[in-house]
Amino acid sequence: MYTKEMLEKWDLEYVWHPFTQMQQYQETETLMIAKGEGSYLYDVEGNKYLDAVSSIWLNAHGHARPEINQAIKKQLDLVAHSTLLGQANVPSTVLAKKLVDITPAGLNKVFYSDDGSTATEAALKLAFQYWQQKSSEYQNKTKFISLKEGYHGDTIGSLSVGGVDSFQAIFRPLLFQGYQAEVPYCYRCPWGLTREGCDLACTQQVEKIMQANHQEIAALIMEPEVIAAGGMIAVPRGYLAKIRQLCTEYHILLILDEVAVGFGRTGKMFACQHENVTPDLLCLSKAITGGYLPLAATLATSDIYQVFLGSENKKFIHGHSYTGNQLGCAAALANLEIFERENLLKKMQSKIDYLSQLLQEFWQLDHVGDIRQRGFMVGIELVADRETKKPFSPEYRVGQRVIMAARKRGLLLRPIVDVIEIVPMLSISETELEFACENTLASIATVLRDI
Ligand SMILES: *Cc1c(COP(=O)(O)O)cnc(C)c1O
Repeated sequence: MYTKEMLEKWDLEYVWHPFTQMQQYQETETLMIAKGEGSYLYDVEGNKYLDAVSSIWLNAHGHARPEINQAIKKQLDLVAHSTLLGQANVPSTVLAKKLVDITPAGLNKVFYSDDGSTATEAALKLAFQYWQQKSSEYQNKTKFISLKEGYHGDTIGSLSVGGVDSFQAIFRPLLFQGYQAEVPYCYRCPWGLTREGCDLACTQQVEKIMQANHQEIAALIMEPEVIAAGGMIAVPRGYLAKIRQLCTEYHILLILDEVAVGFGRTGKMFACQHENVTPDLLCLSKAITGGYLPLAATLATSDIYQVFLGSENKKFIHGHSYTGNQLGCAAALANLEIFERENLLKKMQSKIDYLSQLLQEFWQLDHVGDIRQRGFMVGIELVADRETKKPFSPEYRVGQRVIMAARKRGLLLRPIVDVIEIVPMLSISETELEFACENTLASIATVLRDI
């Protein structure tokens, strides 16, 4: 057996954590997870934590869910992995059919990869190659429109269409150029408008970009419903439908990145279903396996697929070693079965309403500027001054301190700067939702009292 001391020492000595300032990490207490069950994670000493961010937006039905565990074990006894290059396997075939069945009509082809970044990277390359092969008149369509504060992954391609400055700044010389539109961030509207009278000015800016440059634009990429890593920004109703209309009008492909919002997180299976929009390319990952194994899928229309048929050099020139991994696909199938068997999306609606009700309590805190909720994706934006919406000075590290205070209370949260996110598992109980909200509120209150 490895002791806690041993593990902590080795963690500090050997592991380089993602998006983590390791110098600061060394000074904070290590959280060493040993196991999970349902909504909870347990550390090596047996302390219990409510996982209120679903292990960063992955987990759907709880940790160590017997049906998913069983499906993985059953597949493991058959085969763990074989390649999808020029040959097929059973679970990836069945899963592709399922994904086509449950996504909006028109998305008929499934390209597998491993995680969110590769799902969007594949979508960008598909869109690019599509126009190159579609017809000679479209060969200048090589650029992308993306949104400020959008996030599509950390590989160079997916980062190039991102908009979160702190992720991009240092790598800017490596990134390809494109067009960036303002983010539809109603709380801090770039035009200083309010939703009632704005007539979606943000889409008018997108239209202007398209009007002037459509001949060189291959696709627009965005996260529907919630712009997640950029600050849990809730996209105003009507925006997506308008963007779909504009893309069609200007011969621009629409890539929807549902890596975070897909699989029930916003209350519908897919976020684009809130506005009955069908993208040309749909990127899925994170909760696709219920949060158990890395797997991603990029779905495409038949129109796109057709353009890749014919001579050898027209094939899609892209692929990854673990494409269509059997264990991941088996987990994904078990994940989807739970949605169906439990009629989960319907059952979830009352919990979503209950969460809205619990969130009202946060207005009692003076420094809560905005509360954004779409289903089970919540962002609570903390500000120094509610009137002026002035943010806290970064040196206070308010978000980070709230998260550490919450950990002491047995609650795992994540901050996006000073936006506190709550992203519960779809399987969370009402009592657990109460625990999550009460302790988030108490943690915020404690930190605010100290500064
Ligand atoms: C997390 C995320 C990604 C990147 O996924 P990884 O699995 O971390 O590569 C891409 N797009 C969105 C919207 C995400 O939330």
